[in-house]
Amino acid sequence: MFRKILIANRGEIACRVIKTARKLGVKTVAVYSDADADTQHVKMADEAVHIGAAPPAESYLNIDRIVAAALQTGAQAVHPGYGFLSENPKFVRELTAAGLVFIGPSEAAIEAMGLKDAAKTAMQAAGVPVVPGYHGADQDPELLAKMADQIGYPVLIKAVAGGGGKGMRLVHDAAGFSNALKGAVAEGTSAFGNGNVLIEKYVSKPRHIEMQVFGDGVSAVHLFERDCSLQRRHQKVIEEAPAPGMTGEMRAAMGKAAVRAAMAIGYSGAGTVEFIADASEGLRADRFWFMEMNTRLQVEHPVTEAITGIDLVEWQLRVASGENLPLDQRDIHLNGHAFEARLYAEDVPKGFLPATGTLSHLRFPPTCRADTGVSAGDVISPWYDPMIAKIIVHGPTRSIALSQLSRALDDTKVAGTVTNLTFLRKLAAQPDFVDGNVDTGLIDRALDDLITVPDPTITEISVAAVAASGFASSKQPMLGFSLWSPLGKTIPLRHEDQILNVTVTATKNNIVDVGFGTQTIQLQRHGQDWYCDGQKAPMVHVDDATVTVLAQETHVFTLINPLDVQQSAHDQGGGVVAPMPGLVKDVFVAANDTVSAGDRLAILEAMKMEHTLVATRDGIIDQVLTAAGDQVEAGATLITFCKETKDG
Ligand code: ADP
Repeated sequence: MFRKILIANRGEIACRVIKTARKLGVKTVAVYSDADADTQHVKMADEAVHIGAAPPAESYLNIDRIVAAALQTGAQAVHPGYGFLSENPKFVRELTAAGLVFIGPSEAAIEAMGLKDAAKTAMQAAGVPVVPGYHGADQDPELLAKMADQIGYPVLIKAVAGGGGKGMRLVHDAAGFSNALKGAVAEGTSAFGNGNVLIEKYVSKPRHIEMQVFGDGVSAVHLFERDCSLQRRHQKVIEEAPAPGMTGEMRAAMGKAAVRAAMAIGYSGAGTVEFIADASEGLRADRFWFMEMNTRLQVEHPVTEAITGIDLVEWQLRVASGENLPLDQRDIHLNGHAFEARLYAEDVPKGFLPATGTLSHLRFPPTCRADTGVSAGDVISPWYDPMIAKIIVHGPTRSIALSQLSRALDDTKVAGTVTNLTFLRKLAAQPDFVDGNVDTGLIDRALDDLITVPDPTITEISVAAVAASGFASSKQPMLGFSLWSPLGKTIPLRHEDQILNVTVTATKNNIVDVGFGTQTIQLQRHGQDWYCDGQKAPMVHVDDATVTVLAQETHVFTLINPLDVQQSAHDQGGGVVAPMPGLVKDVFVAANDTVSAGDRLAILEAMKMEHTLVATRDGIIDQVLTAAGDQVEAGATLITFCKETKDG
């Protein structure tokens, strides 16, 4: 076993790897960027090396810096985590050249699976079923259109170098083919530097089922399947193992195909073979096809660990240090059912917009496994993926595990940023999902219901306002506060797009009257707690300008400086403010342009994603204060509207 390893990653996966390394007595070296100096993975590791500035290209993707850090600290091997350099053959080559071990597959194995077309060709040759379609080298648009006709619509065009759903287009009929092809080629070229595409039959009622495989370069085993059909824009949201409705016959066939795929490329380490299954008539052993292989540990690996009792990172370290596979196939058993939900800092009603913030409170129930890279007081920065944690549960049956998931989500409390917690809780109770009737379109079909967040109640608004007034935290609450009496104080709070003006008036000692609109209620303080009508009011956390009420639902309010209200009201007038720091990629309007509500005004790239900023009302553009290429701060006004509307 290695004495010391370096983890070329950050966040929850770096923490996850450090935990297992510690268990095995292996010392760890963390690397970190300017933005991550105070993060958990740096604190947990035995040593930490600063490798550059916050943008990934200058730190976590900087191969030279990482190799130098490993050599400088005497690490013998490097764990890549997932994302960043985990599937980069050049990284493997440079590590090997420096005499370091890459904890993962060979450069050749990564390369063999790197492009979708080459991978499909190799898998077909190895006898693995692949999605019917065309994956040839000839990219003549006329030939591609002919192939699409032959395959039969609907078809999917995929950029061969694509990933994360980019460069993919669904085409329903021949009339739409040419435009879709242009889109996929353009996206493949700009995002991956490769404009080649393949064409696939679009599988109806598709389910994403993947097999965890593990190899030691000589032999390979599988550790059963995971169902990752709950996706939004091709991003996984909740994963589970085993797949609901999986038959023994289909599992055996899929396991065999996955092991064959791994063996065909002499695979070493943890990998995932992704299949798509046609579930229009239930799961059938002859209706699944290879999509691609991910040559690394996956985000959702904990569900496999839960049902097999195997620590996959331990296996990675053991196999990379030269051991054979720790278990034979017949000794790997499936036990019970597991779910994983991905908790993100994101604004769901605003189209799942990534969010930032300081986590003034963070708590997971002890009944679940929470894999996280943050704790209370930590910051979700705009630089990286805004995942807060993965919440994993394991029970004897699917139904019990699902109840555990719902309960764990109910008992997870996050303050200081908006999250997708309500969305996850609703999803865990969605009737089709509860029945195991899943496919990749489920979330989209149920979206309207899943994204509606109940409005805060008057009690919730009141405790937020009282906390924001500074009154709630004061040791001698009435001191000074009574000066406002009997007029009280107006606390302006923003909740989603609304500004709420709440009046808070101290009447008697430890009693506060709160007014909002036409409603008034009274809050009473006993000790540190507030009560309304004899009921204990929900807990509140205040951090800078963010007020989080941890009720049954979590509600996040922003405290507005009263002097800014006028400015905010102006922003409400349809102008565009950068919702987060980022790079302006494109601006579609100029001064004096007439636009309608919903029109695209600009694109902002932040947190690895592009966000389209749209007009919130009809109007005429007054000023465009930004241009493509500008780096802007959160809150910067980018575009303003003329006061009068089109009609006015
Ligand atoms: P990427 O590498 O961009 O993630 P994948 O090839 O893994 O692309 O496909 C992403 C998702 O798209 C799959 O999980 C599945 O939901 C859907 N998908 C892919 N291929 C097909 C297909 N042939 N028919 C239907 N859905 C598909």
